[in-house]
Amino acid sequence: MTCIDIHTHAFPDHVAPRAMEKLSAKADWRAVGDGSIAGLLRSMDAAGIHRSAVCAIATKPGQVEGITKWLSTLVRQHGDRIIPFSSLHPKDDDPVGWVRRIAEAQMRGIKLHPMYQDFVVDSPSLMPIYETAAEYHLPVALHCGSDIGFKNNPIPDRAAPKRLAGLADALPQLRLLCTHMGGWSMWDEVEEHLLGKNVFLETSFTSAFLPPERLADMIRKHGSEKVCFGTDWPWNDQAAERAIFAGLGFSEDDVQNIEYRSALRLLGEKNEG
Ligand SMILES: [Zn+2]
Repeated sequence: MTCIDIHTHAFPDHVAPRAMEKLSAKADWRAVGDGSIAGLLRSMDAAGIHRSAVCAIATKPGQVEGITKWLSTLVRQHGDRIIPFSSLHPKDDDPVGWVRRIAEAQMRGIKLHPMYQDFVVDSPSLMPIYETAAEYHLPVALHCGSDIGFKNNPIPDRAAPKRLAGLADALPQLRLLCTHMGGWSMWDEVEEHLLGKNVFLETSFTSAFLPPERLADMIRKHGSEKVCFGTDWPWNDQAAERAIFAGLGFSEDDVQNIEYRSALRLLGEKNEG
């Protein structure tokens, strides 16, 4: 029995303190960790979490190469405890070529962020990126819904559940990971448009915003085999979040789906049982 956190963030040691300071100033939300890899591994040990996906976000063009190299180093140092989700910027030169290079560098997914990277999730300009990721069986993790750090979003529905549902229908072969249960603070829309669709949902930033009954109901309606445990560490505590999702009243089978089986399917790995 194992547990995978499919959504965490960490930064190189020399960047972590400043990055955390900058990000904390943007959001009315206190971090629980320091954003370092050592801090993440300590948190995983305390929570009984064996593997965490470290999701990078390229906040401007030109960062993808450095991000991918850093993540490769992490995997060399820590083996499969770190699941590398690289990031490219849609305005990079040759983003499709970068999807290929990311796959060839043994990255396990790509994280894209519609607010930090200023795009709309179902924009035609993103399709070649999604199509190439699908071709390489590379999961794409998208920030979904509103963002706690972006109060003045000029396109409020840029990551709305309805758009995500349309994207999933248009590209059924894409392994799409929709964070925050498919739409942070757009819960009604998630229920109306996204539950039951061909997407994986991730659990972070939901337990503090939804009553447990409604959260459990949403997971049940979507299907636990398409729901992945994620925390967005260092913004939420891995042990506390794990206890919440293990305590929603699901069967052992559902809990195992949420804690690791869905993530293994998303990643295209064999079920370790
Ligand atoms: Zn995140």
